[in-house]
Amino acid sequence: MEHFHTIIIGAGPGGLSCAAALAGKGIRVLVVERNPTVGPKVCAGGIPSNARKIFPPQLVEKIFHSQHIFSDLQQCAIQSAEPIILTVDRYKLGQWMLEKARRAGAVVLTGMPVTRITDEKIITPRGEYGYRYLVGADGSSSAVRRFLGLGTEQTGVGIHYQLPGNFERMEWHLNPNLFANGYAWIFPHGDSASVGVYASRASASPRTLLAKLHHWAGKYGIEIDDRRPQAALINYDYRGWHFGNRFLVGDAAGLASGLTGEGIYSAIVSGEAAAAKILDPGNEDLKLPRLIKKHQRHTRLLEASSKGGWRCRILMETLVVALRLGLIHFSALELGVD
Ligand SMILES: Cc1cc2nc3c(=O)[nH]c(=O)nc-3n(C[C@H](O)[C@H](O)[C@H](O)COP(=O)(O)OP(=O)(O)OC[C@H]3O[C@@H](n4cnc5c(N)ncnc54)[C@H](O)[C@@H]3O)c2cc1C
Repeated sequence: MEHFHTIIIGAGPGGLSCAAALAGKGIRVLVVERNPTVGPKVCAGGIPSNARKIFPPQLVEKIFHSQHIFSDLQQCAIQSAEPIILTVDRYKLGQWMLEKARRAGAVVLTGMPVTRITDEKIITPRGEYGYRYLVGADGSSSAVRRFLGLGTEQTGVGIHYQLPGNFERMEWHLNPNLFANGYAWIFPHGDSASVGVYASRASASPRTLLAKLHHWAGKYGIEIDDRRPQAALINYDYRGWHFGNRFLVGDAAGLASGLTGEGIYSAIVSGEAAAAKILDPGNEDLKLPRLIKKHQRHTRLLEASSKGGWRCRILMETLVVALRLGLIHFSALELGVD
């Protein structure tokens, strides 16, 4: 059996950021990815702007200085001299991160699902590999999380279509009648846009949510035709990230926002935090605790708005007023931390 200092399961943003940071310091790292290709992921590709320094310009599809918000009673455009959100293509992001991790010296094996985990090794159809440290970066249905005995009760569901066309505005549609405390979005990319919906699993079944997305899109004049939707769960049930010689990062750790479903940036930050802890067990990363605090605020806001129709409406309208008046900054709705 081949041994690695650290094995990372999953080559998403969380796993690859961890791999690049460890391999860059000379650690022998193996990343095991079940998909044959790194990158493709059901995702709208929105990145908080204060995370933009992480990404080189060639990955950025569009940059937005305004956010258009629609609620039952209000329509507004939040403007800022600084960019508020940018969009990236997940395939290009994945390939860029893969290249970075491999250049640093990480071994990344694709098309290789991990089928079993034990205290010393992982088992795949192509063989067994021993580890000293194990990092679960395997997304919202994480096998490492299950291996650690952690449940996953708080999840959201995101459904979207990547529609061709030149969409100009980044839009958020808060409509409690249709999406409860979730929302529908339009996130423009180069020559297409992600048009989709996010809501907590507790508020609607994926089938109902999809029907509501179609209803909303039809009324809004967006043609979906007979395209196939793409959907995935989003885990925001955070219960810790460091468990002895095992770590959970990104969606596996439940670090996506329950409020918005955003999780790329928190995957990268937590991947880097896990690497820093493995390299130096005394390391106290500052970014991740701040991000976790923000994540918890999002969960509390989500819980407050899930208690009933009128309460949800009042909260949403208050939120839009506060954004319009500049009482809160748009970044409060994002997990990005400086
Ligand atoms: C519809 C939708 C829209 C979204 N929009 C946004 C957005 O605009 N902005 C944003 O920030 N976030 C968004 N998200 C969330 C975002 O996609 C995730 O939070 C992010 O990808 C998490 O990164 P990760 O590295 O933790 O996990 P993932 O990107 O899910 O990567 C996990 C990897 O692990 C692999 N894996 C899983 N199990 C195994 C196994 N047993 N063996 C080997 N490999 C395995 C998977 O194949 C995958 O490649 C959206 C999600 C959805 C569903």
